[in-house]
Amino acid sequence: MTVELEGLVRDIPDFPRPGVGFKDITPLLRDAAALHDVVERLAADWGEVDVVCGIDARGFILGPPVAVRLGVGFIPARKGGKLPWEIEQVAYSLEYGEEHLELHADAVASGQRVLIVDDVLATGGTAEATGTLVARLGGVVVGYAFLIELGFLDGRARLRDAPVRSLICYA
Ligand code: AMP
Repeated sequence: MTVELEGLVRDIPDFPRPGVGFKDITPLLRDAAALHDVVERLAADWGEVDVVCGIDARGFILGPPVAVRLGVGFIPARKGGKLPWEIEQVAYSLEYGEEHLELHADAVASGQRVLIVDDVLATGGTAEATGTLVARLGGVVVGYAFLIELGFLDGRARLRDAPVRSLICYA
């Protein structure tokens, strides 16, 4: 059964700053049927996956159940300065300034097939940086799975190395 997901995403205008329409997924996460449906659909039809990579921060909520569903492990791509061990790091630009994204240096083994998961695809910079990190460690990006895509920002244009899928797209 497919659940109607869109009605469970709350729009918060001007959060965290003026002009941003924040997609709050907490109503969806607390709905058992919706959460189950999202995990099933994010995990479906990727072929062989060796590990799921979730992006800081809400990719840490959606990624692990997708990994469990696929019978594989989970690795976190974290914002700069959070991982305790040796890291691989990529800088990427935000609207204001620069951010760093990091993976532990041993997070991906050479040739491993990695599914990247996050809640929202906006400009694509964060997911692109994650794909770059995976590739630098010798992994192969199998795909990018998002709950929500802000289609009007055309983030998928930056993710040319693998298929991009989203469950809800705002045109
Ligand atoms: P971007 O790099 O522009 O694609 O931004 C994607 C990251 O920022 C994801 O990790 C999202 O969680 C977060 N994000 C960007 N825009 C929004 C939004 N409108 N609502 C909620 N999260 C967002």
